[in-house]
Amino acid sequence: MDGQTLFIDGRWRPAAGEETIPVVNPSTGETFGSLSRGRAADVDAAVAAARRAFQGPWSRMSPVERGRILTRLGELIQRDHDEIALLECRDVGKPLAQARRDITAAARYCEFYGGAADKLHGETLPYEAGYTVMALREPYGVTAHIIPWNYPAQMFGRSVMASLAAGNAVVIKPGEDACLSILAMVDRAVEAGLPDGVLNVVTGFGHEAGAALSGHAGVDHISFTGSPATGTLVQQAAAVHNVPATMELGGKSPQIVFADADLDAALPMLYGALVQNAGQTCSAGSRILVERGCFDEVVARLSARFEATRVGPAEADPDVGPLISAKQAERVSAFVERAQAESLELAAVAGGDDGPAGGFYVKPRLFAPVDPDHELSRQEVFGPVLVATPFDDEDHAVRLANATEYGLVAGLWTSHGGRQLRMAHALDAGQVFVNCYGAGGGVELPFGGVKRSGYGREKGMEGLKSFTRIKTVAIHHG
Ligand code: NAD
Repeated sequence: MDGQTLFIDGRWRPAAGEETIPVVNPSTGETFGSLSRGRAADVDAAVAAARRAFQGPWSRMSPVERGRILTRLGELIQRDHDEIALLECRDVGKPLAQARRDITAAARYCEFYGGAADKLHGETLPYEAGYTVMALREPYGVTAHIIPWNYPAQMFGRSVMASLAAGNAVVIKPGEDACLSILAMVDRAVEAGLPDGVLNVVTGFGHEAGAALSGHAGVDHISFTGSPATGTLVQQAAAVHNVPATMELGGKSPQIVFADADLDAALPMLYGALVQNAGQTCSAGSRILVERGCFDEVVARLSARFEATRVGPAEADPDVGPLISAKQAERVSAFVERAQAESLELAAVAGGDDGPAGGFYVKPRLFAPVDPDHELSRQEVFGPVLVATPFDDEDHAVRLANATEYGLVAGLWTSHGGRQLRMAHALDAGQVFVNCYGAGGGVELPFGGVKRSGYGREKGMEGLKSFTRIKTVAIHHG
């Protein structure tokens, strides 16, 4: 499908302008394909196709039939799991084991939302005598999905499957740096029986195809996942037509470790929640706050793990693969160079060599102790850099945890029951994990942020409701 990666009204086609964008393997820096560079005219065609499908066969299909198509799509993704996982590995630079988990998760979203399609319902409301009042739950119509490059397969499952299950027709603008797994799953959606025009994809750059989609008058809802800065642009464009949006933005998520924690259980998660996908995860636990009494022990044990880490090409399934692009590797390296220039204490750096020439590798690093006002404690680095900061007591831990502009996830490690509950209430985050982190992906668990991490929720039944709106019908029958 080289250069023909727009999927509109049930068929693959090149961009109207016939321009393309190279597809680069982050492990080697080599180009191995091309994407169509969609622009406003292509977005117009995709939105029009989605509108026709929404007003046509899709809205006449029963929820159980819609659900069966999504369930079948999940089965087809699982059938071709290895092939799609290898694409994700080459395209995103994800170590093979992680790429496999992501494809399994995408299939699981199809299964979850396929099964949920006929379980979504409105309510009847008690009102004055002589009235029957219903709150109908309806799809929006055409939903736009602007997706980042870091978890394309999972985002396809999480946001697109929920919207389709709710009865919407969709237009996807995937990340220009990585989206091949999405294109492969679109082929499986056709095989699963999705009618033409229900699912459309416009590949292209954010400032072109993405901006055209966010400001399009024919879009009824936007699901945006990406950086806070782009999220602001998307909200401004959407505001022109009063289009509601869900914003899944960045994070600087803390993991808080008390001296009474089970450190054997905590340490693999403190490490894994940062190095997964080379730190390019919105919910990465990118700063750890450690009670002073066990600070040295936690830093020493984590340092040993960092030093044993090996970076390498994604297909060799290393601990840590490359970053997505040369630009992202430069951005992360600049954070590291600034920290080293000011003699920030480097507790550990990954061992081994730097990874093959041409690839976009940055070795994982642990800095400790780091001042809570330092940029590494406050900004989303989006790379394999972890910082550790000591705290004195529970109040101090909460103050430090809530001291950034983000609020996506918080991890808490303590065996004290009262503290678990007090802190779960006090932490500014959309998800709090106690003595665990991420809960294995948790397709069923509502996910989203507070503060600069965004608003609205995806995943679980809450995510399904996000793609519907309520219409109140009041009947006066006397
Ligand atoms: P990004 O904001 O640069 O891009 C995200 C998407 O927006 C891409 O498809 C891009 O092409 C598009 N885009 C860029 N400019 C646009 C514009 N002017 N108008 C419309 N669309 C535009 O983000 P990224 O670098 O791809 O991803 C990294 C960011 O995503 C991080 O901040 C990360 O935390 C965040 N993220 C959040 C979640 C979450 O669920 N909260 C999940 C994954 C990633």
